[in-house]
Amino acid sequence: MAELDRLDAHYGLGASPYSPPPPRRGGLTNRGTVPAAIVALLLVGIVVALLPAAAPLRALLGVGERYGDRPAYTEGAGSYEFIATQDGSDEPVGYDPCRTIRIEINPDGAPDDHRELVEHAIDQIGGATGLDLEVVGETDDRDLDGRRQSVTGTAPPVLVAWLTEDDEPDLAGDVAGFAGSASVRVAGRWSYTTGIVVLDREDFADIEDAPNGDAQRQAIVDHEFGHLVGLGHVDDPNELMHAENVNQTEFGPGDREGLGRLGQIPCG
Ligand SMILES: [Zn+2]
Repeated sequence: MAELDRLDAHYGLGASPYSPPPPRRGGLTNRGTVPAAIVALLLVGIVVALLPAAAPLRALLGVGERYGDRPAYTEGAGSYEFIATQDGSDEPVGYDPCRTIRIEINPDGAPDDHRELVEHAIDQIGGATGLDLEVVGETDDRDLDGRRQSVTGTAPPVLVAWLTEDDEPDLAGDVAGFAGSASVRVAGRWSYTTGIVVLDREDFADIEDAPNGDAQRQAIVDHEFGHLVGLGHVDDPNELMHAENVNQTEFGPGDREGLGRLGQIPCG
């Protein structure tokens, strides 16, 4: 996986912190009472701003109790970056820790052990963040754009799919995968609602036959799930979120600090 996901750099994320740009008004209206605006193409998402009057929406989304414990992590032991931070703050944008992150897998063209690959990533991310991620089923859905659109109601589940370069030109070359989440702004805070994890079908088949191939395939899926919940790239080769990861197959100390902070954010 010489070049794990060039797409991240393509979208301008790279190793630099990236915050959602300020809202641009007039993109959308929501029944005239809750102005909403398309503001930015994040890694995958068009971001929607909702004003505090959207409290009923929060109830609709099932805001409730925090799931797992807040995992402990060591501060300053490594490198991490967030894809996005809250306006005027270094606090990360992430998923609401009081909501289950629902995940659907499209098994078409996926490796035979795709469920194990996803469940391992869920265990790693859940253990490091305290977030509750759950595979809710399989789907034939391949609608990436539907998860790049503004989400003003109940968001669709996160989609995990193994696609080809013909399906998704951004997988061309040795890009093994890409991932990210779309965010909404409620009561002044950005929060992820759904996202995509897209893996390269051919690259996964090739890597499976390589030395240490199983560990590399898992590392790619784990890395992409790191993006899904909010981690960006770092230059440190000892972190799994290094953009062109070669040897690191487990989350490093900085990755874990970043994931821990993503699990600390307040419930919506
Ligand atoms: Zn990446």
